Amino acid sequence: MEKYFEFLSGSLAEEISSKIGTPVYIYDEHSLKKSAEEILSFPRAYGFLARYAMKANSNRFILKLFDSMGLHFDASSGYEAERALSAGISPEKIQITAQEYPHNMKQLIPSGVLFNASSCHQLELFGRDFPGSNVSVRINPGIGSGHNNRTNVGGVSSSFGIWHEWIRDVKEIAEKYYLKIIKIHTHIGSGGDADVWERVAGMSLDAVTYFPLVHTLNLGGGFKLARTPGEKTTDIQTVGESVKMAFKSFAEAYGRKLNLEIEPGTYLVARSGVLLASVMDKVSTGKDGYTFLKLDTGMNDMARTTLYGSIHPIKLYPRKRKPEKLESVVIVGHCCESGDIFTPVPGDPEGIEPIELPEAQIGDLIAFGAAGAYCSSMSLANYNSFPRVPEVLIRSNSQHYLVRKRGTVENIISLECEENM
Ligand SMILES: *Cc1c(COP(=O)(O)O)cnc(C)c1O
Repeated sequence: MEKYFEFLSGSLAEEISSKIGTPVYIYDEHSLKKSAEEILSFPRAYGFLARYAMKANSNRFILKLFDSMGLHFDASSGYEAERALSAGISPEKIQITAQEYPHNMKQLIPSGVLFNASSCHQLELFGRDFPGSNVSVRINPGIGSGHNNRTNVGGVSSSFGIWHEWIRDVKEIAEKYYLKIIKIHTHIGSGGDADVWERVAGMSLDAVTYFPLVHTLNLGGGFKLARTPGEKTTDIQTVGESVKMAFKSFAEAYGRKLNLEIEPGTYLVARSGVLLASVMDKVSTGKDGYTFLKLDTGMNDMARTTLYGSIHPIKLYPRKRKPEKLESVVIVGHCCESGDIFTPVPGDPEGIEPIELPEAQIGDLIAFGAAGAYCSSMSLANYNSFPRVPEVLIRSNSQHYLVRKRGTVENIISLECEENM
């Protein structure tokens, strides 16, 4: 898992920590570009478009970079769409797939932003607001493949999208409001299995047969990145070939050459980020207990581990020495909260499982790798009143640039209404 720290040498880590301080998120432009190129080379039978699921990491520089490379965008809320627009993304490149019908649709839709209805109720609201429009529909095809139940976004236990048995209702609502359903969308969650992709492509193509105006099938994201030795990174080319074959057979059977869209989040950004922190304290609970390293970061900055028991590769950057020994440690965050642990039992955020690291001292730097996706953007910001973490970009010239400042206590209290207290 050393590869996730390749862009962060010991000396660069030192330099960034002394200039910016810790904790700090660090992103690598070179590997962001490489991932985007890989996604843009996804095999396709006919037309093709890749959207970046911007909830994975919505920092403006990433949006601008991917925009310049030809990616389009998937926004998870009306606010996210506004954020993309404010980064200079043109509205036609933004599609909204949201759990709640956005509050600002009356601004977004006339400007050209696209909408993917995720429930019959959303479709009904959209029909009322914009009769006669083009629209995409998210279908839950009835199968999922998440790495644990909570990231599984297909199948009966998922509320995302319209259950495939309700297609008749979709058609009725569309007819009532003269909506043109031109795109079908499915997104079944984090999976790396080519067989699952083939099956989902097949089931999604079945759904297309009910909608004569559909010209595009969006298969969502969910391309997996191995963060631990036991996991497997999705082979984009293999998955893509099986999807391509499915599109070809569909064209042969129905005479319809569909455009393909994919919508990765994780795959585009996860490998390109590191969270760099400092060891603030080291305590032990005796010979039957554990050695704990306490960091200056925690679940407030990176919540995935606390939420899902997700394991991230961890690297120690010892200061001014070469540790001789390994030691078994439990790594905890700085929040006064029992769940603030970075070394859980995999998939079980409640358990603790010590890991082997070179012997650490207070003041050493420690980094979490593969932290570019769903880390900064999914932080439990400001819990314990810790300010937001700054973000730094390493450009291809190996220089680093601050792209988001560290937050302040003033930021946190600025929304409070003193006058009413
Ligand atoms: C989150 C999300 C994605 C991206 O999922 P990854 O697993 O990060 O690739 C794509 N599409 C939709 C609709 C999403 O909500």
